[in-house]
Amino acid sequence: MKRLLCVFAHPDDESYGPGGTIARCARDGGDVFITMFTAGEAGTIGVSKTLPRDDLALMRRAEFAAACDALGVRGHRVLGAPDGGVSNVDATWAVGEILADIRRFKPHVAITFHRGGVSGHPDHIAVAGFLDRAIAEAGAGGPQACYEWGIPRRKSPLYQRPSLVPLDEHEIAAVVDIDDEAMERKLDAIRSHRTQIEFFVSLEQKFDYRAMSRPEHFARGRSRIAPAGAPVGDLFEGIEVD
Ligand SMILES: [Zn+2]
Repeated sequence: MKRLLCVFAHPDDESYGPGGTIARCARDGGDVFITMFTAGEAGTIGVSKTLPRDDLALMRRAEFAAACDALGVRGHRVLGAPDGGVSNVDATWAVGEILADIRRFKPHVAITFHRGGVSGHPDHIAVAGFLDRAIAEAGAGGPQACYEWGIPRRKSPLYQRPSLVPLDEHEIAAVVDIDDEAMERKLDAIRSHRTQIEFFVSLEQKFDYRAMSRPEHFARGRSRIAPAGAPVGDLFEGIEVD
């Protein structure tokens, strides 16, 4: 069975990010596990602004669990790192937590946000760095490939977000087609994050999200497989599955 480990900073990164790829993998029989660094208690969207942080954390944990169900993700855990402060946590602890999931789950492939942070959020950047270190330390027992989700430069103006760090064309190592069923699951997952729904509404006001958020694009992170000449269409291409 194909095993995909996803490592993200905030509940909803899995849905707004490579949610279609995750849904496709799970739907096609893959086993997906998500390691989530924070409970998202520093959210600033909509109702998040007015809720006590503890209450928001509880709500977002529940929303994340519902999103995992929508995507077909079978296992997840929230590490409880401080939202907005992931770059300040002890790196040995952070890398060790990811390593523990790598050793237990034995993923063939890992994914996270692009090392530039996509939105530029320091938590995203920190998580990509911790995952890179964990894969390096895992060596032959770790994932054979790591892919970093991002938004191609040609699509980045749609988001109207100056902090956005896009993927350059030459970085794109995987382009994953998202069929209608996987897209519906991604949208269901996005809607599961009820406290964050204003973000989705704002994107829909800017462009046709259903059409423009697919296919999903990835750069390649630390990997033991030889890079393909052209972008792969499936993150398990070239991977030996035991
Ligand atoms: Zn995030």
